[in-house]
Amino acid sequence: MKELTNDYLEEAIEDSRPYAASGKVNLSLPGYDETIKDDLRVSIITTNGSCFSAGNNNRYIPMQSTSKIIGLMLALQDFGKNRVFQTVGMEPMGDFFNSISQLESYDTSKPFNPMINAGAIAVSALIKGKNVENRFNRYMDFLRKITNNDHLKMSKEVYEAEKSNGARNRSLAYFMQSTGTLVADAEEALDLYFRMNSVMMCCHDFARVGLFLAKGGLDLETDEKLIPSHHLRTVKAIMMSSGMYNSSGHYAVEAGFPCKSGVSGSIIGSIPGRMGIGVIGPAIDEKGNSTAGGALIKKLSQDLELNMFGVD
Ligand code: GLU
Repeated sequence: MKELTNDYLEEAIEDSRPYAASGKVNLSLPGYDETIKDDLRVSIITTNGSCFSAGNNNRYIPMQSTSKIIGLMLALQDFGKNRVFQTVGMEPMGDFFNSISQLESYDTSKPFNPMINAGAIAVSALIKGKNVENRFNRYMDFLRKITNNDHLKMSKEVYEAEKSNGARNRSLAYFMQSTGTLVADAEEALDLYFRMNSVMMCCHDFARVGLFLAKGGLDLETDEKLIPSHHLRTVKAIMMSSGMYNSSGHYAVEAGFPCKSGVSGSIIGSIPGRMGIGVIGPAIDEKGNSTAGGALIKKLSQDLELNMFGVD
């Protein structure tokens, strides 16, 4: 097993960086262009509080789909597992994250799981609050607490881009409204979903979310229990089966710990009882996962013996 040090992480990102060449930068995101294609950063925080990183940590990128795990935590907190999974399934889908056809074919129009767009929109509708503003503030308060970063905020530019590129998500939401799956008004659920996708975080913040999951819901600064461990167990299981889009099976085999990616090239990894990992690598494959970031996650799993199902 390799020793986890900053020097080791520098070597690991240099080994993984060439995989960026096979990916594409998501040009629909403000600030994303070819100049950031080779960018690769990683932060790791262990459960005893040691921090390691490589690459420049101060690039802030939109959470995109990594927001789906925070939304799920809040909905579980608000309604409990039984109610949440009446609205959304817990099965892997095997199709693209914004699929419409799969929505119609499964269990009376219930989305397959909370990690695909339809599922996350349905989960957003469950988050409690008197209006979108108030529900989003709850999301931000929770996220700031988990990351211990009071400066986190939404990018207005990204939010505007989400809204203007949101036709597919609108059709998912309105379809679910027509079948009664959505418990809130479609536009309200979408508005919250777009905002959650547009929150900007750096590598260290992504690692903090992974660490929060790894520590079973303890506030790292105060040791206060912010959410029951059994809800986080559910979130980690869903990340393992569906967190890496329709490559989740591949990552379950090759990395062997819960991960969630976003089309901004972000990846959150969580190794229960051991560490949280944050990765940024903007070039993504056709399924939506960072190519260099994914290679790095698999390398870290091997070198640091992180596979929860056993090591060689
Ligand atoms: N914001 C985009 C959407 O909702 C992408 C989310 C993602 O998969 O990262 O379609």
